[in-house]
Amino acid sequence: MSWNYLGNETAVALLRSHVAQGCLRQAYLFSGPSGVGRRTLALRLAQAANCLTPPQAGDFCGACRPCKLIADMRHPDLEVVEAEQRSGVLRVEQIRELQHRLSLAPYEASYRVALLLRFEEANLNAQNALLKTLEEPPQRVLIFITTEDSESLLPTIVSRCEVIHLRPLPPTVLAQTLIETQGSEPTFASQIARLSGGRPGLALQLLHQPEKRQTQQRIIEQHLALLSASYLDRFALAERLAKEKSKAEIVSLLEYGFVFWRDVLLCACGDHNHLTYQELLEPLMDIAAQLGSAESLQALSRLRQTLDHLQGNVNVRLALEVLFLNLPRLRFSSPASQVSLETPQI
Ligand SMILES: [Zn+2]
Repeated sequence: MSWNYLGNETAVALLRSHVAQGCLRQAYLFSGPSGVGRRTLALRLAQAANCLTPPQAGDFCGACRPCKLIADMRHPDLEVVEAEQRSGVLRVEQIRELQHRLSLAPYEASYRVALLLRFEEANLNAQNALLKTLEEPPQRVLIFITTEDSESLLPTIVSRCEVIHLRPLPPTVLAQTLIETQGSEPTFASQIARLSGGRPGLALQLLHQPEKRQTQQRIIEQHLALLSASYLDRFALAERLAKEKSKAEIVSLLEYGFVFWRDVLLCACGDHNHLTYQELLEPLMDIAAQLGSAESLQALSRLRQTLDHLQGNVNVRLALEVLFLNLPRLRFSSPASQVSLETPQI
């Protein structure tokens, strides 16, 4: 694949055609769940727009100076703007600084590119300030915005952008892609594809960054600890999570839990061959034996329900309390369940 990008082929084809036909829009909004590859696709587009030696129209070489510097997010004409920390606030002052820099001609590239990450974290003033730039965009400037959900932005911002919706891949398709493009071993590729919920960006992180897999492992250990914790401890954890984590981070935690409960249900139905957490076979079997398939399915449904609620405007703490109250309370002696109940680091 010429853009070296996994999945969402229609979106890639559209963007390539914009570059090839010289009809780039002034602003693009890349919308989709975290880990799906929003920022990567925006950077690919910036490379294609600025490549000095494209192998063919709409592509980029990946080797020239702009291609390399953009890929590393170090190009002097690439302005990256984001909240100082995840789940922080992107402030109006940051947009004003950006506007000043965008008013200058590019140093060396064809286009100056503004990349605004996780723009749902921008406060209303910042969104309004950006709106002015979108209404009267400077020459030779491209504005790329990434967001979890375009509905959380001002509709007037969305209407001035070409919106690129990015979706997760079916895990079987993603697994096959990982085998073909990354040379992954099939069983491992399937595990990574399921763990990532079909999001190629997250799958590549899990594949190439061992510390990401360790984090995910710790989250599951915490989930096991939760199942043997008292209701008082569960409420305390719900409170801490709601206070310390963003909604997106909590969704990530619950998605790992969802995959875990899928495994419990598989065990309860006697299928031990398609587990994502094969290494946790002992506690999985233990839980499946205590609950049976009906109760395992119920726990899985409750997690799904909470994830659906979190897409809306719910009180996060309340949603977590209800979930934690309804998850079964279990007694088992697996070492993984004896870790202390802490707020997991994501
Ligand atoms: Zn190039």
